[in-house]
Amino acid sequence: MNNCSNSIAVVGAGLTGLTAAHRLVQLGRRVRVFELADRPGGMIRSERDGGWLVEAGPNSLRETSPEITQLVTSLGLDPVKTVARPEAKHRYLVRAGRLLAVPASPSELLGSKLLSFGTKARLAAELLRRPRPRVADLSLAALAREHFGQELVDYAVSPIVSGVYAGDPAKLSARHAFPSLWTMEQTHGSLLRGQAAQARARRTAGHLSPTPVFAFSDGLATLPRALAAALPGGSLEFGAEVAHLQPGPPWQLTWHRGGVAHTEEFERVVLALPAAALARLIIGPGGARPLAALGEIEHASLTSFFLGYARSQITHPLDGFGLLVPAVEKRSVLGVIFSSTVFAGRAPAGHIALTVLVGGTLRPDLATLAPAALLPLVQRELAGLLGVEGDPVFERHHAWPHAIPQYNLGYERYLGAITRCEQACSGLFIGGHVRDGIGLSDCLASGLRLADMAMADEILPQ
Ligand SMILES: Cc1cc2nc3c(=O)[nH]c(=O)nc-3n(C[C@H](O)[C@H](O)[C@H](O)COP(=O)(O)OP(=O)(O)OC[C@H]3O[C@@H](n4cnc5c(N)ncnc54)[C@H](O)[C@@H]3O)c2cc1C
Repeated sequence: MNNCSNSIAVVGAGLTGLTAAHRLVQLGRRVRVFELADRPGGMIRSERDGGWLVEAGPNSLRETSPEITQLVTSLGLDPVKTVARPEAKHRYLVRAGRLLAVPASPSELLGSKLLSFGTKARLAAELLRRPRPRVADLSLAALAREHFGQELVDYAVSPIVSGVYAGDPAKLSARHAFPSLWTMEQTHGSLLRGQAAQARARRTAGHLSPTPVFAFSDGLATLPRALAAALPGGSLEFGAEVAHLQPGPPWQLTWHRGGVAHTEEFERVVLALPAAALARLIIGPGGARPLAALGEIEHASLTSFFLGYARSQITHPLDGFGLLVPAVEKRSVLGVIFSSTVFAGRAPAGHIALTVLVGGTLRPDLATLAPAALLPLVQRELAGLLGVEGDPVFERHHAWPHAIPQYNLGYERYLGAITRCEQACSGLFIGGHVRDGIGLSDCLASGLRLADMAMADEILPQ
């Protein structure tokens, strides 16, 4: 048994775990990071192939806080940071089989064919709503319907939810999945006035609004690689599956590689794992799995296609971030990111790259189809929506059977299990996309929170 009793174990080297480990090292702690895979980054996977840059998982990060900006700068990544091009601020939505630009301002909205006159009038009336205390949670669809009507649920909320959660607005919890909307209703009444106030507050605090979207010239994996490289040598253990924790102090952590079990001692343990891994974890004697309930959390399954074409194969100008498809349109794709428009360097000269997402909780049947069966469906959609002709000249696909946890109604059951587990085990800290928000910026904030919590209660012996 290795004795590292004055150091902290971080389990999981996705963005959450690596951020936590990096912060702990900055604060002077010794850390050991255990990662099942043979590379850092978790869901972040960037692959360069000649002039193509494929993002198998997430495509971009939102710069929602100064901590994100500082972290990127402190890692020396500013020279390779690529901010989304100005054209990417435009978005498209599908309505009645056609692509319509999403209005970027109230005056554009008035002239837009995206929403009926009735819904536009409801939007104006919504501005007059007074703050409303609400105790019981409700679905995002119910919240939005109450404020704006069904058409806005179908043609704004549902596609946004597809783009973020690949989920079902009728099942997602307003309180847990969109906490800022939940709070806005209590403080402002009107969600529209709440959003405007939030944007004003950001500008007053010196932040850009809307929040900038960025990646790196060699893809998002640059960030976890840099975080991993900044850790002291020998602190990252790849191919290490953590299976058992014996509460301390000192905590005893058992990990496996190639059928061989290793046990090490730590003062504290940070868990930055997906729900299924937390559910399997044995904590304490007797084989108890206190987080077993997390195994029941619904996850969206996704298949992501990265498709490259010669520019001449596409008639659409691709002048935007991409397009989203409302579920009521009953199509096979959830959305398309115009990858080579959003960021430079994604496709060779004279070519364009699209990232197409298929599946989600409303179409799990599609995410499980073999890519060879799915690609023709995708190509038919791209032909109809963007005027794409012929086969892609470059193609990659990635299946994500447990892509995104759904913060559905009743999610407090899972959050409660996590809190109870922490309370029962002093020195255990749990975070990541199962608890703190599913976006990369949430995961980064989660990593910082975990590190600060692990440092908070007492100064560890050096
Ligand atoms: C297709 C797709 C597209 C997305 N697009 C975006 C986007 O554009 N922007 C955005 O902000 N977010 C996006 N997301 C969401 C975002 O990628 C994730 O929420 C985030 O990466 C989760 O980070 P994490 O560190 O919490 O977890 P993970 O990245 O899942 O990391 C957890 C790590 O734990 C390891 N592990 C598991 N079990 C064990 C064990 N027993 N022992 C040791 N290690 C273990 C895993 O191998 C993994 O490396 C997307 C997600 C998907 C799937």
